[in-house]
Amino acid sequence: MKAIVLHGAQDLRIEERPDPGPGPGQVLVAIEKGGICGSDLHYFQDGRIGAFRVREPMILGHEISGRVAALGAGVEGLAEGQPVAVSPSRPCGACRYCREGMPNQCPNMRFYGSAMPFPHIQGAFADLLVAEPEQCVPTDGLTSAEAAMAEPLAVVLHAASLAGRLLGRRVLVTGCGPIGLLAILVARAAGAAEIVATDITAFTLAKAGALGASETINVREAPDGLNRFEADKGHFDVLFECSGVAAALAPAVPALRPGAVIVQLGLGGDMTLPLQAMTVKELILRGSFRFHSEFRLAVEMMRTGRLEVVPLVTHVRPMTDAGAAFTLAADRNEAIKVHLAFG
Ligand code: ZN
Repeated sequence: MKAIVLHGAQDLRIEERPDPGPGPGQVLVAIEKGGICGSDLHYFQDGRIGAFRVREPMILGHEISGRVAALGAGVEGLAEGQPVAVSPSRPCGACRYCREGMPNQCPNMRFYGSAMPFPHIQGAFADLLVAEPEQCVPTDGLTSAEAAMAEPLAVVLHAASLAGRLLGRRVLVTGCGPIGLLAILVARAAGAAEIVATDITAFTLAKAGALGASETINVREAPDGLNRFEADKGHFDVLFECSGVAAALAPAVPALRPGAVIVQLGLGGDMTLPLQAMTVKELILRGSFRFHSEFRLAVEMMRTGRLEVVPLVTHVRPMTDAGAAFTLAADRNEAIKVHLAFG
């Protein structure tokens, strides 16, 4: 099989690896689609995410869908040929955080394509993948592209669960990459009264408008575009911060009502917060990191037609063109979600 292996910054190679087989109780999945995520891009561009540097060759990728190719002995509930989305979340299930219902905080987490631990956790951008049955969620009725969106959608569903009530609320979304756009879809599905979105590219903001944002603001062209929401101590009840950039968050704070919730999803470098302004308005800051149980919910919401994620997938490229696909995925003037096609 072929795999997409990162050796260091800007050093992505397609390598031949031995075909794996499923052991007892395991599932062999023939991967069909893999979505390029912001974290894959950080590893590719910089060889690191913050403090986590790629120190050995690592297969990238964790947004994946495919078909069951073979079942190990004793696996029930799945069938050969069945389409599945594969959750990259692999907590240990035994540590204190797993037992306390916080599996996304598991210190033994083996999340695909992560340089946080060493040896690194190898990713899933390969033609074949051996997974545990619990990771494989049937996606009958969905396309492989939709199924590969389950992972980023799960990220946003986890964030929405931390945001509190969204019904009837005024929501601000900063950053309209895939996560920000999914936040718009989720806020709309949850009954938000108003959804305003900011970004710095016209392309992503046009998508935001098409997906249901009530208003979009290009904060590069109009740096004080949020000013009019500052009257009467602010306007928005919830902020989904999806950019990971302090320059996006700082001007949003005066537009938030007292007691508003900031859900921070964006991951980048460290961000400076206007803590004094946040304190006097009693704003609530909630970090949101990954997901676990929300993966099945994400598949279920797509299967029942409550969310339409297809417009986010702007490009599909063969996995053998991974280098060009990664460069394309980094261009927010042209691409939202780029999928690699395997097999
Ligand atoms: Zn654990």
